[in-house]
Amino acid sequence: MNIPLVDLKAQYQTISSDIDQAIRRVIDNTSFIMGKEVEAFESAFAAYCQAECAIGVASGTAALHLALRACGVGPGDEVITTSHTFIATAEAITHTGARPVFVDIDPRTYTLDPVGIEAAITEQTRAIIPVHLYGQPADMDPILKIAREHDLRVVEDAAQAHGAEYKGRRVGTLGDVACFSFYPGKNLGAYGDAGAVTTDDPEITNQVRLLRNHGRRQKYEHLIEGHGERLDALQAAILDAKLQHLESWTDARRSLADHYRACLADDGNIILPFEAAGVRHVYHLFVIQIPSRDQVFSSLREDGIGVGIHYPIPLHLQPAYRYLGIGAGSFPVTETCASRVLSLPLYPEMTMEQATWIAERVRFHVEQNSVS
Ligand SMILES: *Cc1c(COP(=O)(O)O)cnc(C)c1O
Repeated sequence: MNIPLVDLKAQYQTISSDIDQAIRRVIDNTSFIMGKEVEAFESAFAAYCQAECAIGVASGTAALHLALRACGVGPGDEVITTSHTFIATAEAITHTGARPVFVDIDPRTYTLDPVGIEAAITEQTRAIIPVHLYGQPADMDPILKIAREHDLRVVEDAAQAHGAEYKGRRVGTLGDVACFSFYPGKNLGAYGDAGAVTTDDPEITNQVRLLRNHGRRQKYEHLIEGHGERLDALQAAILDAKLQHLESWTDARRSLADHYRACLADDGNIILPFEAAGVRHVYHLFVIQIPSRDQVFSSLREDGIGVGIHYPIPLHLQPAYRYLGIGAGSFPVTETCASRVLSLPLYPEMTMEQATWIAERVRFHVEQNSVS
């Protein structure tokens, strides 16, 4: 058997006529930039997130960058986030001219630990970016409380968490503004790069709309200097077609996650994902922790199982962030996770039998590596 980490072809096969029609429609209309395809997706996605507004942009990275700029973050400022995330979270901060300031993560949810925030706040701090990592919302109440006390903006990185919920509310409306990626492998994925910003704040909405399109209010009138970071009409049409299926895909992910749990006992050799109380985890990734990760990873690959590691090197230890001067040992929880996390294949079209077999192989290799 050969099971990839994600299988985009399997998904296309289930919806090919919808997708083909959407693409055909855009080509027939030759309206490739902005226009009604983009508007239709924006309102559908805003409704899905229970947000006032969604603004389509070119990628998740662009969403984060423009959201931060719209919040007034710029040169000399500091933005607090975690080091256990995809590099785009931190790059977006640097793109504005601000500096990323990392804090450690909670050992069970892998999201920003509110306990570390206050100590990281300085005169320069302007915003906090909690990352809803692997599909689980960060613990937003304490984060929002600290943000209110210190007059900081909260920008959700929801790139991995479309449809996730925190205390009955969808991500995308929990902070001041939220950022989504529609990179092909994400829970809602385009056929190329795409992203969105969601918010209830009309001021942020206006700013992001200006910023994504060269600061343009109307043709040849530019209020500010912006960026070329619009969402393509082709991607919007594809995303709109796929959005109709997102809830059933999320249900399938959650059922597969339950099945993995049932097959893999949390016995000290394997640590299973923790779903916090009051949260709907959408399992962008099913991430376990095992002390003998590197050996088990290679053995599973040899079995034909497309395991991944998200993420093997924390941002503060990446060559790209050496200039921040943060040494090893600075964020112990993050660093331990980086050495132990392992992502198992999970996509809506995967079968329970496949998950059963993967779990068997995981148990087998973990046992092999704990005796020797
Ligand atoms: C994917 C991702 C991004 C960036 O999204 P792109 O669409 O690839 O630019 C940002 N943050 C996190 C946590 C992600 O997983």
